[in-house]
Amino acid sequence: MKETMRLNTQQKEKIWDVVIVGSGPAGLSAAIYARRARLETLVLEKQPMSGGQILNTTDVDNYPGIPDVGGFELGQKFRQHADKLGAVFCTGEVSEILPYKEGYQVKTDADSIHTKTVILAMGASYRNIGVPGEDRLRGMGVSYCATCDGAFFRGREVAVVGGGDVALEDALFLARGCKKVYLIHRRDSFRGAKVLQERVQKTANIEILYDTVVEEICGEMQVEEITACNKKMDKRMQIAVSGVFLAVGMQPNTSIVGQLVDLDDSGYVIAGEDGRTSAAGIFAAGDLRTKKLRQVVTAAADGANAVASVEAYLNGTLR
Ligand code: NAP
Repeated sequence: MKETMRLNTQQKEKIWDVVIVGSGPAGLSAAIYARRARLETLVLEKQPMSGGQILNTTDVDNYPGIPDVGGFELGQKFRQHADKLGAVFCTGEVSEILPYKEGYQVKTDADSIHTKTVILAMGASYRNIGVPGEDRLRGMGVSYCATCDGAFFRGREVAVVGGGDVALEDALFLARGCKKVYLIHRRDSFRGAKVLQERVQKTANIEILYDTVVEEICGEMQVEEITACNKKMDKRMQIAVSGVFLAVGMQPNTSIVGQLVDLDDSGYVIAGEDGRTSAAGIFAAGDLRTKKLRQVVTAAADGANAVASVEAYLNGTLR
């Protein structure tokens, strides 16, 4: 963890062109594009550590041009790029964003900042199942993203937990490269799409365990096995696996903006590719906005698009 970054008096008093809330790939990409557009750019990050969700990803193997890069390393590269272009970073958890004069007032635990525009890039968090071993073995066999980490389990036995579209898609995706996939669901029927259920049922190397909950994820330095329990039969079992993919839903980090912009039923900020939200001057980028594919590459693209919208907004040409 780096040292906490604070604003100096001059930085506290200025009116920024854009304040970016969050320093994952979307926020950092927005910072890079904003500085290249010569905008006065402030990035607010909750912890003094940039990178967002990829900090918890051992290896990122699907960001074009940088194969086999560590998640932490990629996050640092994005951050160094934004630093080099002169984005200002400040450590602070945003508690409120309020309309103020022509722009917005962004309140953190330490500061009250004024800006013409805001890019929301607080991301989303994977929902946990909250069992022993889950936190300790995160990135060491416990994963929340099959498309990010699946390739590292080629030829191995893995488990997927969940019964929604993502769990079914993850099981199908992993079954293409893994020796065997246990699909573990807490009820006796899936909520995911029927077409996916049919495909899962027809896939020879997927074994479905209904009515089953994971109680513990075990292993010294890597996942070695899970303890699961079939609730209907009250039968406990040990399953040897090298990876556990938890696909029990996501939670967008949007609780502070519920009064500011329109959210969908799941709490995502309603915004298209241009990042425009229901509030003028507020834009959304990355995993917290409504979209289909949430990946580093799509988050980075969102950051660029949001800045293009910020520029048009500031020039008065946003249509
Ligand atoms: P989801 O639909 O909310 O499903 C989450 C699954 O996890 C449910 O089966 C739930 O069980 C289970 N679960 C929740 N908490 C759990 C816990 N603590 N322990 C064990 N299991 C738990 O989430 P999702 O699959 O991530 O999908 C999110 C949204 O994206 C959905 O609206 C989905 O339709 C959409 N999506 C669409 C597509 C597509 O159209 N191709 C692809 C991906 C995602 P219960 O069923 O018992 O509640």
